[in-house]
Amino acid sequence: MAARILDGVAIAQQIRSELGARLDAFVRDARRPPGLGIVLVGSNPASEVYVRNKVRTGSESGLFVDLVRLPDTASLDELLAVVRRLNASDVHDGILVQSPLPAAMGKHAEHVVFETIDPAKDVDGFSPVSVGRLVQNRATLRGCTPAGVIEILDRSGIPIAGRQAVVIGRSDIVGKPMALMLLHRDATVTICHSKTTDLPRVASAADILVAAIGRPAFVTRDFVKPGATVIDVGINRLDDRESVERIYPPDSPRRAEFETKGSVLVGDVHPDVVDVAGAVTPVPRGVGPLTIAMLMHNVIVAAEQRIASRQQV
Ligand code: NAD
Repeated sequence: MAARILDGVAIAQQIRSELGARLDAFVRDARRPPGLGIVLVGSNPASEVYVRNKVRTGSESGLFVDLVRLPDTASLDELLAVVRRLNASDVHDGILVQSPLPAAMGKHAEHVVFETIDPAKDVDGFSPVSVGRLVQNRATLRGCTPAGVIEILDRSGIPIAGRQAVVIGRSDIVGKPMALMLLHRDATVTICHSKTTDLPRVASAADILVAAIGRPAFVTRDFVKPGATVIDVGINRLDDRESVERIYPPDSPRRAEFETKGSVLVGDVHPDVVDVAGAVTPVPRGVGPLTIAMLMHNVIVAAEQRIASRQQV
């Protein structure tokens, strides 16, 4: 039987509509909308798409979204000056600096930026303070993508406690925080990475398998225990015909999409996995919409917390 498809668009919509009442209450109390400052350095095409979606969804949801653009020739000092200005601003409750930064800023630029963002405004959950709080299971601003995955599981009625969870990928942005969030929900968690031996054997022990690798259709049927829930975080753009034809059968609508658009978005999970899994997230329309919904959630939480901490003074 084909797996249940977990509809990220519908779940994200549900979260955003639930946030509406909190947003209205904030506007009533603060007499301004919650504010999000987004900093985009350069014009990486994927970043342009992500930022456009965040600006559009944020504005449609009733946030004040302030996009600050810097040229790709900007120095790290110039970027840090923008971050400090947003830290000091009264109307920016959340700050997001879009990754990746231009290579010319240096290898450690992202870490320096994450160290500089005020943890109270760290709506991406990447600052060392946010990560430390996550480790201690007391984070209020958690990484948007892994927090979105937890929402998908919860709102789809998929139990986490006591289950075997395998996360493939150990990045600071997805894999590691994902594993911690599953652990805090009482799953037994295994983290796999590029040096893991016999990955299909390890992965196929999972009741919940999360793929955050960045390799198109990497997770094939042999990685998946029958009936398992498979969460596909990967977003890969394929623009070569050979790969598209290897992954999708001739009658797949994705082949037709490739013919019209010249590219298709593919997750880290092979489409054949639907024949084995119990539930899967699609790409697109799976985890991606949750990342943005959880960003909106974090901006509202940050805004509420800033107002509450001021009232306590
Ligand atoms: P990353 O490159 O930082 O990390 C990839 C991880 O995969 C690494 O930890 C690495 O050890 C592991 N890996 C690489 N090759 C492997 C292999 N052969 N076997 C096992 N593990 C291997 O990537 P990331 O930032 O974690 O992103 C992962 C994917 O998720 C990308 O496709 C990215 O575009 C996507 N992503 C999606 C969203 C979303 O909103 N849906 C958000 C962030 C990232």
